[in-house]
This record gives sequence, structure tokens and C-alpha cells, in this order.
Amino acid sequence: MLTAASAVMGLVLPTGIAFAQAAPARLPRAKEENAGHYRFRVGDISATVLSDGLIGGPARVYASDAPEADLQDVLRRAFLPTDRLTLNLNTLLIETSGRRVLLEAGAGQTMGPQGGRIFENLAAIGLQAEDIDVVVVSHTHPDHVGNLRTADGGKAFPRATVFAPRADWDFFVRNDPDLSYMPVPEDFRRNFAAAIRRSVEPVTHGIELYEAGVQIVPGLTTLPAFGHTPGMANFLVQSGNDQLLLTADLAYHPIVNVDRPWVPGPDRDKDAALASRRRIFDMAAADRLLVLGFHYPFPGLGRMLKTDAGYAWVPVSWQF
Ligand SMILES: [Zn+2]
Repeated sequence: MLTAASAVMGLVLPTGIAFAQAAPARLPRAKEENAGHYRFRVGDISATVLSDGLIGGPARVYASDAPEADLQDVLRRAFLPTDRLTLNLNTLLIETSGRRVLLEAGAGQTMGPQGGRIFENLAAIGLQAEDIDVVVVSHTHPDHVGNLRTADGGKAFPRATVFAPRADWDFFVRNDPDLSYMPVPEDFRRNFAAAIRRSVEPVTHGIELYEAGVQIVPGLTTLPAFGHTPGMANFLVQSGNDQLLLTADLAYHPIVNVDRPWVPGPDRDKDAALASRRRIFDMAAADRLLVLGFHYPFPGLGRMLKTDAGYAWVPVSWQF
């Protein structure tokens, strides 16, 4: 059950009595804290990973079919807590054709108090929300649309045209979604659906609904990656011979969903999601693509290897 405190702050998945009774501590916001932005280039396109902070939940949610002993073992060998998996929120800003395009809006406070840092990370690179021309979300889960709404209900990116996949809009926004497939308590599901509608409400008028496969702006193409949600897309950023693949939520954390083949519990159509994962991971491995995982450890960049058993994630090292 969500406690009153965590319900007020957003959707925090309880991991046990201790976690459920104590709201997670807010991260310090001192100026000297760690960097939350990472710049690189994709050909002529300037790209910056902008962290929106962290979310997380019981590891079991993200590795729904893992044998318990194996899951515990994998987490321990990675020196991670065994009761809770922390996920990053790696939004990407690209500057191309004179436009600033933000890929994924981030969670804001919809899924706990450690999200919502994108604005201070934008400020750290000299930009404000007003400077964003386009926002494209891969799917409409709260951790991808949460920052679209300001605290007082306005548009957080006041000048931006917002693109969202049509099938997700139909499922989550136009209709009352059946979320019984999600391995979380009923009140969490209800709050999850409400958080989506609330987050997108300020941008409903003027929303651009897309079908995965279309180009959004020159250099940015969407790819179908259905299964996690009815309309989830991946993004391919291209300039010259350089490419970057954004895999959205095909996997939550590489140690459980790439290095191990465990199934993310929130995948709505698990067979379709598995097929998307294999098709896109195979492409990434074959073409040696640079990949950005939205929830992977910051900055979330690396490459996929095909192995005898499946896949392996190889993070890129920090470049200056
Ligand atoms: Zn997500």
C-alpha cells in the first residue's frame, strides 16, 4: 500500500514495511552536487543527456519471471541492493536543423520525489524550458510525460510542440486503461493512470499524435517497438554516418533485462515486447549502434553485444 506521504509525492512502489512507512529522502540540491548532463555528438547533431533524476521499485517488478535466487544473486554480484532497483531517467536533448528537440519529458514528481531534475540540468547548460521547440515521448507512462505539466497545471515547455504515439494516446488518455497486467497494487494502478492523464492535460490541445515509423524532424526517426505499451516507439538519431538508437523501455536495467533475459513486469503484451526487444537488440548488435537506455545507469550510453546466451550490455566510458 502507498502511505499517505508517498501518495502525495507520487507513485512510489513499496518494497516492504520499512520502505512503505518512510518516504525516501529528497536528494540534496546543492550547487556542488554531481553533474546531471552529458554532452556528445551524433555527426553534426549536438546531443546532451539530461538527467531527470531517479525512480525505482522492487527488483521483482522489473524482472517478473526471474527465479528468486538467481535475481538475488545477480543483484548481489552487481553490488546492488536486493530489495529495490534504482532506475535513471535519461532524457536526451538534440539540437538539429535549428530546433531543440527533447526526447522524453521525464517523470517530474509523478513517480517519487527524486524525479523532476531536468529543469536544473537544462539551466546548467544555459537553457530554460522556453528554449525547447519539440518534445517527443516514446510512450505515455508517467515517467516519460510527468514533466509536461507545471505545478500549477500549465505547460512546462510553453513553446514546444509535443509528439506522442497515437496508440498510447488512445489506450491511456482517450480511454480508461485496463492495467490489471501490471504487477503492482490496485491503488498504484489507479494513481498511475491518473498521473498520465494529469500530466498530459495541459498539452492535449495541440498534441501531435504519430505512428511509429515516421520521421519527426530531419535526423530523427521513430521505430515501432510495441509491446511495453500499445504504441511505444524507439528513436533513431542520424547524421552522416553516425547513428544513435534510443531504446526507451525495451529494457529497464541492463543487468536484469539485457545481460539476463528477464521480462519487465509492466510490459503489457509480453510476447510483442519480447519480439520488439529481440528485433531491435539484434539490429543494435549487428550494426554496432551507439545505444541510449532511458532507465540505464547515467548517462545510459553503450552498445549491445550478441552472445551465445542472448545479449550483453557494454557501457561506453565517459568522454571529455
Ligand atoms: Zn520508463
